[in-house]
Amino acid sequence: MNERPMVRIQSVRKRFGPLEVLKGVSLDVPAGEVVCVVGPSGSGKSTLLRCVNRLETIDSGRVWVNGELMGYEERGGRLHALRPAELCRQRRGIGMVFQRFHLFPHRTALENVMEGPVTVLRTPAARARREAGELLDRVGLADRAHHYPAQLSGGQQQRVAIARSLAMRPHLMLFDEPTSALDPELVQEVLAVMRDLAASGMTMMVVTHEMAFAREVGDQLVFMDHGVVLERGHPREVLTAPRHERLRAFLGQVG
Ligand code: ADP
Ligand code: MG
Repeated sequence: MNERPMVRIQSVRKRFGPLEVLKGVSLDVPAGEVVCVVGPSGSGKSTLLRCVNRLETIDSGRVWVNGELMGYEERGGRLHALRPAELCRQRRGIGMVFQRFHLFPHRTALENVMEGPVTVLRTPAARARREAGELLDRVGLADRAHHYPAQLSGGQQQRVAIARSLAMRPHLMLFDEPTSALDPELVQEVLAVMRDLAASGMTMMVVTHEMAFAREVGDQLVFMDHGVVLERGHPREVLTAPRHERLRAFLGQVG
């Protein structure tokens, strides 16, 4: 079973009204690997991530995560939509970190991290508290556990958001431009946490404009343009010798 990818995206199509945003995207993410997704604004990167954890339905194609077809089960050779509780169970295994941090403003960092385990996983509070403390330590925020989001910098808030996702013990982490809303001097502390997470063996899909991160940490680089994967490969190869003019132009812009 080792060869089974953590994520298999097969011929996924998605349209919003007249606009076809994903035009048959296929992509595998092997377990333990980091796939960085880059591309111009509007090329479908966020939609692709949201199709993986089924925040969006898809019009055709299939998505498997950890060997399970997302949103459906096969019975008697036919696909049946999963019941909401089953879909929630599938989603719980997938952490997502957005550009904006979406922390609970009236809860401390520690309480934010504990929330999911206590309410969703029914972890006893004492244990959830201890594990939340360990996760905050892991993202370098042990000394900020009792601060409220408003008392934290954007970079610190994003690290709390990462710890909060990890508290649900996901087998896959999705990052949608996690550093795009941050002041430049705060970007590296978040990337450092993501780098550690990658080194720990987490499977990650990362939409980012941070090319140095993609080059260093990515096992695969995927360039999306107008709803298709135009180019993919090892980041060093793709970045050093891009084959498509549109990728060359994009790289020229992001620097
Ligand atoms: P990216 O993340 O690469 O910038 P998105 O996946 O967010 O691209 O969006 C791709 C296209 O789909 C854009 O043209 C966007 O306006 C459109 N789009 C995204 N979400 C919706 C939605 N819920 N309804 C209508 N159009 C949408
Ligand atoms: Mg986006």
